[in-house]
Amino acid sequence: MKKAVVFGAGGFIGSHWVEYLKAKGFWVLAVDRKHPAYFTSSADQFILTDLRDKAAMKSLWIKEATLYQFAADMGGAGYVFTGDNDAEVMTNSAQINTNTLRLSIELGIESLFFASSACIYPRHLQRHGQDPYLKEDDAYPAHPDSDYGWEKLFAERMYMGVQRNYGIPCRIARFHNVYGPCGIYEGGKEKAVAALCRKVALAENGDSIEVWGDGHQQRSFLFIEDCLEGIWRLMKASNVERPLNIGSSEMVSINDLAKLIIKQSNKALTLRHIDGPVGVDARSSDNTLAEETIKWQPTVSLKEGVKATYLWISEVMKEEA
Ligand code: NAD
Repeated sequence: MKKAVVFGAGGFIGSHWVEYLKAKGFWVLAVDRKHPAYFTSSADQFILTDLRDKAAMKSLWIKEATLYQFAADMGGAGYVFTGDNDAEVMTNSAQINTNTLRLSIELGIESLFFASSACIYPRHLQRHGQDPYLKEDDAYPAHPDSDYGWEKLFAERMYMGVQRNYGIPCRIARFHNVYGPCGIYEGGKEKAVAALCRKVALAENGDSIEVWGDGHQQRSFLFIEDCLEGIWRLMKASNVERPLNIGSSEMVSINDLAKLIIKQSNKALTLRHIDGPVGVDARSSDNTLAEETIKWQPTVSLKEGVKATYLWISEVMKEEA
């Protein structure tokens, strides 16, 4: 039976990835500091550990496995774009990635997957009025707009260096705003879709909901099921040795995203713009390379994905009330 180790298996994408691998018949060791927030993992083993602790990690090493590295100190705009958490984000995530790679070199590993981010792209390519569809080659010359993005870019280079110098296959996905059911929607680390769904679910007819900035900032959002299929195809394609966009090209302004969620709720709500961290003006994913190399394109529309996510969040909030 094929073996997989999933770091960050208590988080949003990692917890879904464990379920995906189990459905494909893998034996899975899941690792995180916490269990998934909203369901019990199907992993064969779930070990709670701190991945900044290299000595503790040695005991869970399986060299015949593929290792999927999703663990990171991250969150939505309220966490990574304020600057308040930069030291933690940079040092914690860099330590996890360094430990992962050093142990892969020292103890061996069949292959590696690393979850990078669209936040690595340069800020000067993401202003209103420019072509927002970012291609993989646009990453350099580098100028990410957050330290979260800088850490991801540095980590990408570490994984590619290990691949080059030690012959360990490393596959790297640059995710663009992944969302869907079972992602956190409160507490400060939640991301845009989940945060807006929570605000709409809490609001009463006639209320207004808060939107950070003027809401004209534009993004594309990738539904979790498409993300999982993208990772699967990337790992099956043995020849993609460079980072690949795994994102949607369906761009939307935050105002229109909020209106789409409000429509799902059947409530009469308005938007109230307040100061808040907003990130770059406009960003979307150019998927030409993903289409060419792994024959992958997203299949779930924003409307369908938002519907599923809003339904899930509003149901969970009702149960918790
Ligand atoms: P998440 O925050 O839900 O999951 C990350 C997990 O890592 C958490 O469960 C956390 O407990 C774990 N972790 C952090 N530090 C740890 C430590 N020291 N030891 C053990 N576990 C630790 O994030 P996510 O949304 O599932 O994202 C997964 C990966 O994809 C991350 O690397 C993230 O940067 C990347 N990514 C996500 C998105 C997105 O939109 N969700 C976009 C781009 C990139």
